[in-house]
Amino acid sequence: MKDVIIIGAGPCGLSAAMECRRQGLSTLIIEKNFIVHSIYLYPTNMQFFSTTELLEIGGVPFTSPNDKPFRHEALVYYRRAAQQHELEIASYEEVLSVEPIEGGVYAVHTVNLRGEQQKREAANIVIATGYFDQPNWIGIPGEELPKVSHYFGEAHPYSGMKVAVIGGSNSAVDAALELVRVGATVDMVYRGESISENIKPWVRPIFESMVAKEKITLHLQSRVTEITAGSVLLTRQNGETGLLDNDFVLALTGFRPSRTLLASVGAEMDDSLDKPVFNTATMETTVPGIYVAGVIASGRNANEVFIETGRGHGHLIANHIHARRLADKEL
Ligand code: FAD
Repeated sequence: MKDVIIIGAGPCGLSAAMECRRQGLSTLIIEKNFIVHSIYLYPTNMQFFSTTELLEIGGVPFTSPNDKPFRHEALVYYRRAAQQHELEIASYEEVLSVEPIEGGVYAVHTVNLRGEQQKREAANIVIATGYFDQPNWIGIPGEELPKVSHYFGEAHPYSGMKVAVIGGSNSAVDAALELVRVGATVDMVYRGESISENIKPWVRPIFESMVAKEKITLHLQSRVTEITAGSVLLTRQNGETGLLDNDFVLALTGFRPSRTLLASVGAEMDDSLDKPVFNTATMETTVPGIYVAGVIASGRNANEVFIETGRGHGHLIANHIHARRLADKEL
């Protein structure tokens, strides 16, 4: 039995494991894919908006010739940081549920790549499952067609094709710019009056120039309301509609955390905010010994927690588990 099982080997789960080990707690991470799987799925050429220092975990320096690192540098960094801290990670093992058993112990039910089920036990559980598994579906006809993707890796497959990008955030802007570079015809469709205020400041002027040069056709205050094999239907805020001839759709509309594991163990949710109820000083949920770390702690706006902020959750959790242990010993 472990003192702590952490579910999810994203940056925030790794950071939590490092902090728990620092407090002398035996710690296991269970990860259904592999270490920092979400970052692995980011666009191949993505540059972070954060500086390297703000992405560091466990006191391991993140060195890079770039002020803001690229995806491939982050993959190396988090892999090395985990090795340096000698973290125990059970990869390719999915947690299906968490269940309280006797004596304040939790059973964690998992299944591995070979379909073998296991029961692992720990006194404390940290749920750090992120949000990248669950895209925000728009809920329109045709969204399930093979031409539609909620993830963007590289522009190359779209060379010379007509692509509609849905969204107005950094992901949508970065994708649109890459698509222009490979000769795709790009329609960008966004419901807002203007694209997000949070666009990386060094990217915004390039994007605006591409729009001014009509390399990207920007449809603001508009929604895609139907997708068919050869087109998308646009509906503008004023009620007008129009068809765009189209080969592919990239629906880059963000992600939302799955609450399945929290529900399996009976943790309370704040339905008005669509987030788990937890103590912000300790990250403990309404179930003693069950904690949240990283993006899973966010509400409807999943971007309220990111690596910069979520990497600190582990410190609060480890301190709380350690203090509770000391108090139990004194009794
Ligand atoms: P994740 O990194 O999503 O990790 C969760 C892990 O849990 C995954 O590996 C997943 O496979 C695993 N998991 C899920 N369910 C289970 C299960 N049932 N059993 C076992 N394992 C499970 N943030 C910044 O601070 N700076 C940036 O510059 C930045 N840039 C970004 C750029 C993009 C394109 C995107 C999409 C996000 C960016 N973010 C940035 C946000 C940041 O990536 C996330 O906030 C961060 O990944 C959250 O970390 P996490 O550990 O909470 O979750």
